[in-house]
Amino acid sequence: MENQVKRGKIFIVSAPSGAGKTTILKRIINEIPNLYFAVSVTTRKPRPGEVDGVDYHFVSVEDVLEMFRKKELLEWAMVHGNFYGTPVREIEDKINNGKNVIVDVDVKGFMRIKKFYPEAISIFILPPSEEELKRRLLKRAGKEEFDEDLKERFRKATYEMTFKDLYDYVVVNDDLEKACKEVKEIILKHIS
Ligand code: ADP
Ligand code: 5GP
Repeated sequence: MENQVKRGKIFIVSAPSGAGKTTILKRIINEIPNLYFAVSVTTRKPRPGEVDGVDYHFVSVEDVLEMFRKKELLEWAMVHGNFYGTPVREIEDKINNGKNVIVDVDVKGFMRIKKFYPEAISIFILPPSEEELKRRLLKRAGKEEFDEDLKERFRKATYEMTFKDLYDYVVVNDDLEKACKEVKEIILKHIS
């Protein structure tokens, strides 16, 4: 028993699209030792700068079907017309080796993962206001006005925000430094 590795902790992080979750997580992941991303699979195309196997496993619809058949996915969702899923191994392999893991999923994914891992710690990242969220969505997309894609993202974002109270922690991303510090402190509190 003495040599048994202590299981790692699971942190589930959700946010409405454009709230700044990716920006925050990318900053803190390298600052906290022994913390890793559970890399999801997705059928969406990589954005500039995204790396296969790091940001996502970019896969085909056929690959997804094969993963379904082999029961390799813990949960999955269609988001903005693309498929996203969390491979069981991305979590199990890490926590069984004592690694702490961040799972970045939408609200539906959160609810499903929480069923499998009730001990998981959950964090919801909120934008300071709906107006600021709109500005960030426009900025990230390099657009001046809302098109159908952004309207859909905004609709889903406002819907997802109604679930924030189901999470253990809510962090408002107004000032980026402050939000990073808050998320970091929450994680450190649970792993140290
Ligand atoms: P998400 O992963 O939640 O969809 P991103 O991390 O891609 O969101 O952030 C959306 C946009 O908002 C990006 O252009 C990012 O640079 C910007 N952003 C993130 N945090 C802040 C902040 N605190 N203040 C201003 N802009 C921010
Ligand atoms: P994006 O395309 O902007 O990277 O992600 C879009 C949305 O999909 C985000 O809300 C993100 O949290 C969610 N997402 C990413 N990976 C997964 C996953 O494996 N499962 C689920 N349910 N949602 C995911």
